[in-house]
Amino acid sequence: MTAFSRMAIKIRSEQWLMVFLALLILAACSPGGAADKDSVGNRNPSSQQQTFKWKMVTTWPKNFPGLGIAPENFARLVDRMSDGRLKIKIYAAGEIVPAMEVFSAVSNGTAEMGHGAAYYWKGKIPAAPLFTSVPFGLNAQEMNGWLHYGGGLELWRELYEPFNLVPFAGGNTGIQMGGWFNKELNSLEDFKGLKMRIPGLGGEVFSRAGGTTVSMPGGEIFTSLQTGVIDAAEWVAPYNDLAFGLHKVAKYYYYPGWHEPGPTLELIVNKDAYDSLPADLAAIVEGAARAINQDMLDEYTSRNNAALITLREEGVELRQYPADVIKKLKEITEIVMQENSRSNAMFAKVYSSFDEYRKSVIAYHEISEHAYFKMRN
Ligand code: CA
Repeated sequence: MTAFSRMAIKIRSEQWLMVFLALLILAACSPGGAADKDSVGNRNPSSQQQTFKWKMVTTWPKNFPGLGIAPENFARLVDRMSDGRLKIKIYAAGEIVPAMEVFSAVSNGTAEMGHGAAYYWKGKIPAAPLFTSVPFGLNAQEMNGWLHYGGGLELWRELYEPFNLVPFAGGNTGIQMGGWFNKELNSLEDFKGLKMRIPGLGGEVFSRAGGTTVSMPGGEIFTSLQTGVIDAAEWVAPYNDLAFGLHKVAKYYYYPGWHEPGPTLELIVNKDAYDSLPADLAAIVEGAARAINQDMLDEYTSRNNAALITLREEGVELRQYPADVIKKLKEITEIVMQENSRSNAMFAKVYSSFDEYRKSVIAYHEISEHAYFKMRN
């Protein structure tokens, strides 16, 4: 037995995040690793006496499974790694600012950090949704590849720089579900007149397909569906959708989530606050962000399975999007991406990087992941 495997056996469950982080730091120290492009830079050396107390505002309901727990995990990890020198208190949506004001609150320094999703800021920054998810775009594994080794994170930093914000990937749910409906979808005609909660670029595609896109934070979906404010909604996947009880107000559960194939959550830091950290605490923030980013995907991958079984037992009817509907949504997506690229220079710049990465990774994944899935099934 190697020293490493002996060590691995001794790890207690609550310590695994620390070990994951240590491995990340080891990886970052290797030639060509993430250390080449970290955000820590030249900073003051650490001072064991200096302590920081930060606030993190989030777009999530209090203690919401997965999405709301990730920021709590982040704060706990940073507290342990810094030996209490950086304490971060987490605030749910509405406790300091409403969900949709998280970006502004961190930008103006009301809070030092925020956790949410970049596509919520679409109205303010047209290119922001590209850092959450693109319809028919990258899956979770590929998003992480593009962000951390394909130039994506550098572009994200460039986009948020004018807002005095430093973004990090702060979680990924993996591919989501296609949403909850009370009628079956047989053709694109069935989208006509349908009011659906569906954010980001997926929402834009849905509008072009004849539907009416409604924006609202997750916490309002159940009541809005129940009272008829909306006819349909997408939220996340079985684990989170079960937690909101969406199966009690909608009959059909469509798959797959063409609009969100691997959405990245975001962790944003006020740049002045981030720059004030000594090198070790800045490295801890960066490493802890990488750890929770991966941890969320691990959690969803496991918990969605169990939740889907429960939903089926509760009588939920699963439906696959018809091939013809998907074909048309793909065509509309292409038009939406071209139009956005023409109307916004930064959108064009980011999407060009994204699309180039997408094409190259599809070529490789065709003979690796995709070939394996087909073979296994
Ligand atoms: Ca979603």
